[in-house]
Parts: sequence; C-alpha cells; structure tokens
Amino acid sequence: MAIKQLSSIEPGLEATACLLCGGDLATPVLHGPDYFMHVAGQYALVRCGRCGLVYQNPRPALGQIGRYYPQHYGSYGSAQQGLKARRGLMAAVIRRGQTARSRLLDARVPPVAGRARRLLDIGCASGLFLETMQRLPGWQVEGVELDQATAQATSARLGVPVFAGPFEQAAFQCGSFDAITLWDVLEHLHEPLSSLRSIRRLLRPGGVLFVRVPDSASYVARLCGRFWSGYDLPRHMVAFTPHTLAQMLGAAGFSQVLARYPSGSYLAALHSLRFAMDAGLPPPVAASIHRTLLHPLARAAVWLPQQLADLALGGSNIEVMVA
Ligand SMILES: [Zn+2]
Repeated sequence: MAIKQLSSIEPGLEATACLLCGGDLATPVLHGPDYFMHVAGQYALVRCGRCGLVYQNPRPALGQIGRYYPQHYGSYGSAQQGLKARRGLMAAVIRRGQTARSRLLDARVPPVAGRARRLLDIGCASGLFLETMQRLPGWQVEGVELDQATAQATSARLGVPVFAGPFEQAAFQCGSFDAITLWDVLEHLHEPLSSLRSIRRLLRPGGVLFVRVPDSASYVARLCGRFWSGYDLPRHMVAFTPHTLAQMLGAAGFSQVLARYPSGSYLAALHSLRFAMDAGLPPPVAASIHRTLLHPLARAAVWLPQQLADLALGGSNIEVMVA
C-alpha cells in the first residue's frame, strides 16, 4: 500500500509513482513549506520502497508548474550560474568553477578532425557556461532555455542559437552533439529518466553528458536537515544521492563515469542558514544576521574552509560526467 505523507492532496498537486522504477510503495522522508519562494502549501518527499529514489509526492502538476516559479526565481539561478556583471569574491568563485568544468570537458572530448566539437547546454539561463566554452578553441556551442526572454537575451549576447522551450521540442538531430551539459536542471524535470534517454539519443556514440544536481547525501544536506537549500520544494521533483543518480543514468543507458567535480557547499550553506533563520527567528534578527553573513569580510573568512570542505567532503552537489 502506498503511504501518503500529506493527509490530503492540495489543489494543483498530483500523485506520482517513482520517477525511476515506477513503483508506488513509498515511505515519508520529510515535509515542509516552500522556504525559498514562499508559495503557499505543504510539500513532501518520499522514498521509493523498491529502488530508494527520494522524490516529491504529491508534486505540482506539469500544467500548474508556472505558479511555483515566481518572476524573481531567476535570482537564485543567477546567483548559481550568472553574476557576470558582478565583481567580487562570489563572481570569482563561480567563474573559477566554470573554467574548471570547461577544461574537464575539453580534456574528455578529443578534437574531431575537420569540424568543431558541438556542445548543447540545456537550461543555459544567462549563458555563463556557454560563454566559458566559447573561449576554448574548437567548440561550437548552443543552448536551450525554457524562459523565452532569457533565451533571446542569451542568444543575442553570445551570438549563438538558443532554443526557447523544452529541448524535446527542438529539431535537434540524433547523434549530433559531442557534449551535453545539465546544470541544476535534472531535478526540476517531471520525467527525468525519459529526458535522460532523449539526451542520450542526441549524443554521438562516445559523446559525454556532464550533469550537476544537489546531493542529498552530502554533509551539507545532513547538517542542514529540512532547511537544506538543495531540496527546494516544490520545484525539485527528485532529491538525488550519488547512488540514485548513478542508477538513473544507468537506466538511461549511460555507464562509464569519466570525471567528478566537487562543488556547492558555500551557496548551499548560506541559503539553508537563511531558511532556518527565517523559520526560527524574529524577521529583523534574521535579516540582520543574514546581512552580516553576506558582508564581504564574512564571505572572505568562510571561503577557504568551504573550498577545503568541498574538496575533502564532496561539496553539496554531485557533478558527474558520463558517457
Ligand atoms: Zn523506485
């Protein structure tokens, strides 16, 4: 018998079977409000009794998903991936990560005689990664972005094609990409396994997928509990661990693990702490502490310990390149 965590399903939410194995036996993991965007409601994660995947159930129906992404949601995306126009430590940290990822990808996808290597970044947002890859010789890049205005702006800024909409609706040829990247995208998808299978069809034989998702088995997630920013209910449909991500990638036909990159504990800890303070402290006190934590000196003080923690303990994200 399927165990429901919430006593009733709220309007706009739908029940779902496991997004990995299709099973419908699940046990509650946690439930709570939308700590980040404050969309009204209670949301829940369950663990599949058959394969162990932790997924949101019930979850926003696909047709209702827009109401869970307020206009200012992009600010989180830009904090994670953008900040191009901003100076300072955070922008430098993010650029350093993007450069490291681009070099890993460049090293793992050997040049092809007679043509440029083709990269598709799905969920490219403001195009920071596309821009980083553009600087490397021998790459032809393009993007996919759900938000039409962002897609147009990124395409105009970089002079590269950016398809606006779900990637399955673009007329990409099978086997036409050498590399596909998914930064903070897979956990948002309603049918992640089916999407991964489609992505694999777009890759040429031997082409690589580089994917980043929050790691719910990470030390940051365990420290922060239900306030961990990587849960981001109700927008994240899955809370992956390295094990369940590997299972899903395997089910989609990917097998060989080529590289890993640790990241993310700094931003995850900062956001999670804010969610915990918002829930437990008077608003002026929480706001004051948050301002102090965002001060450049405070950021500088925690930067090195966080970098070391990422390296030693694996960060707050799973970043894995597979073929
Ligand atoms: Zn399952």
